[in-house]
Amino acid sequence: MTTAEPTVCRHCGEPTRGGEYAPGHDSKHRGELYQAVLACEITEDQARADLPTVALADQLSNDLARTRGR
Ligand SMILES: [Zn+2]
Repeated sequence: MTTAEPTVCRHCGEPTRGGEYAPGHDSKHRGELYQAVLACEITEDQARADLPTVALADQLSNDLARTRGR
């Protein structure tokens, strides 16, 4: 038996047709976390924990590393 789990976007909470995000909202979410880390509102670890996949978390870390000139 397959039941479609109701899914909502991790960024804005709107229902999606499956998946963690509405179209394009994964990068929006990552961008907002990126800004929050740069503004010292949250730590990089907190931002990573907020992202649903390791791939997104690693992209965030790469962006931060580049900005910090590491
Ligand atoms: Zn969304």
